[in-house]
Amino acid sequence: MQQTVAILGGGVAGLSAAQELVERGLHVRVYERKPVMGGKARSIPVPNSGVGGRQPLPGEHGFRFFPGFYKHVTDTMHRIPFGDHGNTFDNLTVATRILLARAGQTEITWVARCPTTLEDLRAFLMELFTPLGVPLDETAYFVSRLLLVATSCTERRLAEYENIPWWNFIAASKMSNAYQTDLGQGLTRSLVAMRAEESSTRTVGCTQLQLLYGLICPERVFDRLLCGPTSDVWINPWTQYLQKLGVEFFPGTRVVSFETNGTHVTGTRVETASGQSSISADFYVAALPVEVMAALMTNDLKRAAPSLANLDKLKTRWMNGIQFYLSKDEPLVNGHAIYLNSPWALTSISQRQFWNNVDFRQYGDGTIGGILSVDVSDWEAPGVVYGKPAQECNVVQIKDEVWTQLKQHLNNSGATPIEDANLVAWFLDPDIEFPNPSQATNAEPLLINTAGSLQYRPEAQVELENFFVASDYVRTYTDIACMEAANEAARRAVNCLLAASGSNAQPAQLWPLEEPDFLKPLQEIDRIRFSLSLPHHLEST
Ligand SMILES: Cc1cc2nc3c(=O)[nH]c(=O)nc-3n(C[C@H](O)[C@H](O)[C@H](O)COP(=O)(O)OP(=O)(O)OC[C@H]3O[C@@H](n4cnc5c(N)ncnc54)[C@H](O)[C@@H]3O)c2cc1C
Repeated sequence: MQQTVAILGGGVAGLSAAQELVERGLHVRVYERKPVMGGKARSIPVPNSGVGGRQPLPGEHGFRFFPGFYKHVTDTMHRIPFGDHGNTFDNLTVATRILLARAGQTEITWVARCPTTLEDLRAFLMELFTPLGVPLDETAYFVSRLLLVATSCTERRLAEYENIPWWNFIAASKMSNAYQTDLGQGLTRSLVAMRAEESSTRTVGCTQLQLLYGLICPERVFDRLLCGPTSDVWINPWTQYLQKLGVEFFPGTRVVSFETNGTHVTGTRVETASGQSSISADFYVAALPVEVMAALMTNDLKRAAPSLANLDKLKTRWMNGIQFYLSKDEPLVNGHAIYLNSPWALTSISQRQFWNNVDFRQYGDGTIGGILSVDVSDWEAPGVVYGKPAQECNVVQIKDEVWTQLKQHLNNSGATPIEDANLVAWFLDPDIEFPNPSQATNAEPLLINTAGSLQYRPEAQVELENFFVASDYVRTYTDIACMEAANEAARRAVNCLLAASGSNAQPAQLWPLEEPDFLKPLQEIDRIRFSLSLPHHLEST
């Protein structure tokens, strides 16, 4: 008889698990609390903004960055049909530049180049970071710390670097202001709202290296972006494809508790508009965000699955998007812009240049020329207009602050790409809720990797025999909370489920993070030194 799987949560992890399972012949049901699928990756059309039969203005929870090192989620995208002959991977466009904008200073634009030896890499990194204005000896030190991580073995990264905050590892407190803001904070906090002061060296170092390899390795790309609103060009074709394969979707269904007999999950209580009921299945995949999962952990469940007992020790922070709709398009740069010393840790994409087949006249009132999509990754630092953190601002103050910080970074040297007269509308992620008169709340925060937190993160396989976890907080090669991690976690959960069900279907493929070949002999030497309890050779000289 066909075995049934209940997938709880319809974000990237839930949809990825559904695809792997249904393709292997299982009967899959997806239960999602929202009316639409996609989770944090879904688009959010601006309510009531379509005029004269046009579509609402396209909005996003936050723009979507697909770095070159992603392999899992892009493999899935290859397998989702799009249009007559294509697939959703074809909807990714390679970006060619990255803009580092600094308030009151000249902007820096990075392009990809390809060194092939360790010495090339050292020279490349020096050249890359020098224009930031960080003293040369400090730049050299930063580069040497990156190279230390690059040439360390996995065992040392796990045993040592996992527990050291990046800020301490790069000795930021002893360095110049430019080093701290640009190399320390600026490059780190734009990565899924992490902070150099608290995030682990293993996570920040390895992720920054993966991004750098995308810049420097000839066969790789640094950055890819979707060619239209995320739900239009990816999430909706995905759910349609899954439905065609037989996946059943239950939107508007919130998981309220799990029932367990100590070895198995025996059922799940769910709530819909018509009240509460129980659902049951042979297997369960919890693809719920970490803060939701932590809140569902009862004492019974913690006893039955001790590896899920410490989810409440994992930290989340706010990262949310705001879109600015412009009368005249301002492409800014052919890729991401990082606003290095913006207090609210802003990053942006000017979307129109990547949305080749999107007819902007079909949206809103038909007059929008461009969309600047901005992510705000620090909601706790005071802003420059009202002197308050974003969390304490009202919706208009948030818009004013972000717009002003953009101007401070981009309107330099006589150029004024950010002009008030060009702004026709804006839209803040509705996850930011404003209970009057107290401060805002955020319905969907994001996991951040603090030093030493790996111990609290579970594997996809927990102690319960028919229950698996798949979301961006699960232990993966990818490590940071992103769509790639969500997809990889889902594949891991599926593989454990297949083993538990006695299936002989091929497991879903997994890829370790790829590192350039010329580093491997140096990592091997470090592996030997680590096994002998010796420090890395760069630290011992
Ligand atoms: C602003 C922002 C920008 C980002 N940008 C990028 C980016 O550019 N690139 C990138 O790779 N990653 C990015 N990320 C991270 C990425 O979006 C997430 O890591 C990823 O989407 C997580 O997928 P998930 O399925 O694990 O979790 P989620 O997307 O959170 O999905 C979980 C699902 O479970 C549902 N749910 C919650 N509670 C219940 C319940 N009780 N019952 C039933 N369903 C429930 C939710 O509604 C949701 O649909 C960004 C995140 C944010 C916040």
